[in-house]
Amino acid sequence: MTPEEFRAAAHELVDWIADYRAAIPGRPVRSEVAPGWVRARLEGDPPEAAERLADLIEDLDDVVVPGITQTQSPGYYAWFPANASLESVLGDIAASGLGALGITWQSAPAVTEMEELVTDWLRELCGLSDSWVGSIHDTASTACLVSMLVARERATDLSEDRGGLQAEPAPLIVYASTQAHSSVPKAVLLAGFGRDNLRLIPVDPVTLAMDTDQLREEMAADAAAGRRPAAVIASMGTTGTTAFDPLERIVEIAAEHGAWVHVDAAMAGSALLLPECRPLFAGIEGADSFGWNPHKWMGTILDCSLLYVRDVELLVRVFSTNPSYLRSSSDGEVTQFKDWGIPLGRRFRAIKLWFHLRLAGAEAIRHRLRRDLAHAQWLAAQIEATVGWEVCAPVTLQTVCVRHVPDGVDDPEALDRHQQEWAERVNATGRAFITPALVEGRWIVRLSIGAEATQRPDVEALWALCQESALPDA
Ligand code: PLP
Repeated sequence: MTPEEFRAAAHELVDWIADYRAAIPGRPVRSEVAPGWVRARLEGDPPEAAERLADLIEDLDDVVVPGITQTQSPGYYAWFPANASLESVLGDIAASGLGALGITWQSAPAVTEMEELVTDWLRELCGLSDSWVGSIHDTASTACLVSMLVARERATDLSEDRGGLQAEPAPLIVYASTQAHSSVPKAVLLAGFGRDNLRLIPVDPVTLAMDTDQLREEMAADAAAGRRPAAVIASMGTTGTTAFDPLERIVEIAAEHGAWVHVDAAMAGSALLLPECRPLFAGIEGADSFGWNPHKWMGTILDCSLLYVRDVELLVRVFSTNPSYLRSSSDGEVTQFKDWGIPLGRRFRAIKLWFHLRLAGAEAIRHRLRRDLAHAQWLAAQIEATVGWEVCAPVTLQTVCVRHVPDGVDDPEALDRHQQEWAERVNATGRAFITPALVEGRWIVRLSIGAEATQRPDVEALWALCQESALPDA
């Protein structure tokens, strides 16, 4: 494809994207296709001859769009906000168009230096001290794994240079709450600690945040038995209910054992952009690593996950490689992000943040986040005021966890079934998509507000739909 052919095709595709985005509110929110439906419609021999863009666009309309849950819809309240702001989409297009190779500083100085710039911008916008240094990963799962690898190496004084964990004299223990995201145990296992050495600490029954008395006891018991407490992962904004572990206390307890503290704020980290939300993160300056995803609530298109650490020297010692063909005369003066994580080749992710922040401006992003917080408070107040409904977890940010308790039903299993059934009735309408979840043994329904397009009338419509769906025969 020549640049001129690309120009024509790209105009056509961008027009299609704009039309698609404009039409999202009229589409069913949850993808309703059956397993295999998409593949069956796209099936065929590998293309030998060039096809027309128009044919691909037809498939986008007929097959791909129905095969996507519309996370950009105003009726999307499932999992977590997965915003893909159009400002950042432009940045993504620029990243692809540039085709930069991010393997070393020399291969594309702009890839490195823009990443340094935007991670500093976000550090400042989040009110974090300049002792943090950031980099951009694909996901919070990777960021957590990177943190666990560094935590392991700190606890073992760089065992990777000797016999690794296999030669360590005593097991290393990692702690997280029972409400930690599944990526947390995954990172702990992949970093080689072993499931037997992961302690899932119970949570407070009301706040659903880590019970730090239990943490203190378990860490002390492990230390007394000759095991080594190596790391604690604090969840700031759990996936289930957006609970915040008491970070200040966790940092104090971890310090008694010299344990690393990683903060997983994948969804809720966006709240740091709002000064009034920062008390939720009290203690953050005592942590060792901190990850959050602009690709969730803040709305920089996936994949864009920030990882901040303090001890860059240690990070680099754990991850650096220096083969002859990657050396250059600038080494020593520049940042080599290949030495800050797992991959060598890195995408130009910073440019998505750069476009998003410059074209939208931080004030507009803060305004939207505050709007979502107000929507959640409004919805929680309606629920609290309605007989038969309960808000079943503190509404710390934009997630409202709810249960409907019909008159006369008190069997716990029947109540659990009812939550799943009314949520499914909501989803089957196509007007909204919400997700039930099992939290500490009980089924609840999560209403996760925060899609960029969701306005107050949409939240009002959601509440009406929930009520109709919970009492379909009323
Ligand atoms: N941590 C928390 C609290 C989450 O809610 C999620 C995703 O929902 C993750 C981690 C994983 O995020 P990612 O998809 O970026 O790996």
